[in-house]
Amino acid sequence: MEPIDYYNDQKYCPSCEDYVPYLMSVEHSYCTCCGGEVRLFSKTDWENFQNGLSAKRPKGGRPRKKATTKSNPSTDRESA
Ligand SMILES: [Zn+2]
Repeated sequence: MEPIDYYNDQKYCPSCEDYVPYLMSVEHSYCTCCGGEVRLFSKTDWENFQNGLSAKRPKGGRPRKKATTKSNPSTDRESA
């Protein structure tokens, strides 16, 4: 029987190449298995996270319709 938020108590250890339980210090967190510094995401997950954010952005190069509103007077002059 696992706690629901057990996964949130783990961070990614590059040395162990896995999500591991960690010890949190003031600035960094350290792997309880090897003592190495752990990070919140693995590099792959982080890139996926970044890609997910950038995918929401509108892509550039969207063709814009040029609204050329020339004042074209259609009033014909009649020579009286
Ligand atoms: Zn480790």
